Amino acid sequence: MNLLKRKFTKFIGFSLISSIFPFNFLIAATKKILNPNLSKQQKTIMFKEGTERPFTSELLHEKRKGFYHCANCGNKLFASTAKFDSGTGWPSFSEALPGAFKTKIDYNFGRERVEYHCAKCGAHHGHVFNDGPRESGKRFCNNGLCLIFKPE
Ligand SMILES: [Zn+2]
Repeated sequence: MNLLKRKFTKFIGFSLISSIFPFNFLIAATKKILNPNLSKQQKTIMFKEGTERPFTSELLHEKRKGFYHCANCGNKLFASTAKFDSGTGWPSFSEALPGAFKTKIDYNFGRERVEYHCAKCGAHHGHVFNDGPRESGKRFCNNGLCLIFKPE
């Protein structure tokens, strides 16, 4: 009985904490602007979960070998081998480098989407979908403004 009571108290405690400090709050707390040269638009996308207009990114046509890094903290996120043309107007990747991102579910626009953000600085990058054409089945739809490409 005692054990049950303890478990129940723990559960109530956890529920209370998570309603006072929702997960989003935790993420917001870890977000940090590290690059002082970010433009206003980059800040809106990365720290207020904005989205750039489709077909505006120069990186859409980037086909060189190399790596894509976080524009805020420099974290290495994608290899050029994972990039593909999804036709959506945003740079798209079939997989991220291990540990590059963390994810959370968002419910904007009335549907459930998996948002992902840089594991190092917390900056928002895009959404990941399960309709990718490659073996991974994933499609990382990334705002080009959040990325810096470094050719090999
Ligand atoms: Zn970052």
